[in-house]
Amino acid sequence: MSRIVAVVLSCVLMAACGPRQLEPDAAFDCERCADWNEPIEPFRIHGNTWYVGTSGLSSILVDTGDGLVLIDAALPQSAVQIEANVRALGFDPLDIRYILLSHAHFDHAGGINALQRYTRANVVVSEDSATVLRTGKLQEDDPQFAHGPGKTTFPAAKVDGVLPDGETLNVGEVTFTAVYTPGHTAGATTWTWESCALGECQDVVYAASLAAVSAPGYSFAASGAAAQLTDSAARIAELDCDILLSPHPFFFGMHDKLERRDDGNPFINSLACTFFAEQALGWLEQRLASER
Ligand SMILES: [Zn+2]
Repeated sequence: MSRIVAVVLSCVLMAACGPRQLEPDAAFDCERCADWNEPIEPFRIHGNTWYVGTSGLSSILVDTGDGLVLIDAALPQSAVQIEANVRALGFDPLDIRYILLSHAHFDHAGGINALQRYTRANVVVSEDSATVLRTGKLQEDDPQFAHGPGKTTFPAAKVDGVLPDGETLNVGEVTFTAVYTPGHTAGATTWTWESCALGECQDVVYAASLAAVSAPGYSFAASGAAAQLTDSAARIAELDCDILLSPHPFFFGMHDKLERRDDGNPFINSLACTFFAEQALGWLEQRLASER
């Protein structure tokens, strides 16, 4: 009898039998993590597309009309903010049906495990991202591999589906296309979909990082990642693109654009993808010069 009482009491006191709760993983420690994880109010970017990330790490929510899709989940310690941001916009985080990923680094994939356990969403990623996400450990071909496991390993997550290059995922009224854009990581994936508002539809591009950053000793030229980045930049420049988003808000000038919201929708800019690609090629040139 006393055991039953104990179980009932633990249900009451600890909400163990109550609604599901987000159980975040241990915080990831890095030089820029605290800055990146500064909170920011969630907001609508356009139509079905919302920003639910932190000040320095993007997380995008798409309302498909039949459930929600989340793209990227920032750091392990960002998961609580993402969940709260989804709620603050009036959505139920438990309606997240899919979680997609730009690339399997700790600062974009770190929050997936906790959010997946909480929402029970299906995690769908590229082939190479799947290999990393299943273990939380970088593969040897990753430019940042040599930083070592202490600086790169993040909570592993269950991969429910792998989407090949150019294939689509249909959720509700929205079709997401996976465009493989490797170079920053082998599995880096750009996602595209359409957002409509007031009878006007815009092509949204969530462009994976094209940044040529690495651990010491890595060569983008020798590894072939420079050639991949060049091809990936060309692919992104050629996409139908009205709204550019990317894993770090500074890549698409988010904070500046938020200041200019009174003047139409500053996120709509059909030249943004071309500019993003050109900027990335400029950074790559500098990097290759320093490697020579
Ligand atoms: Zn990265």
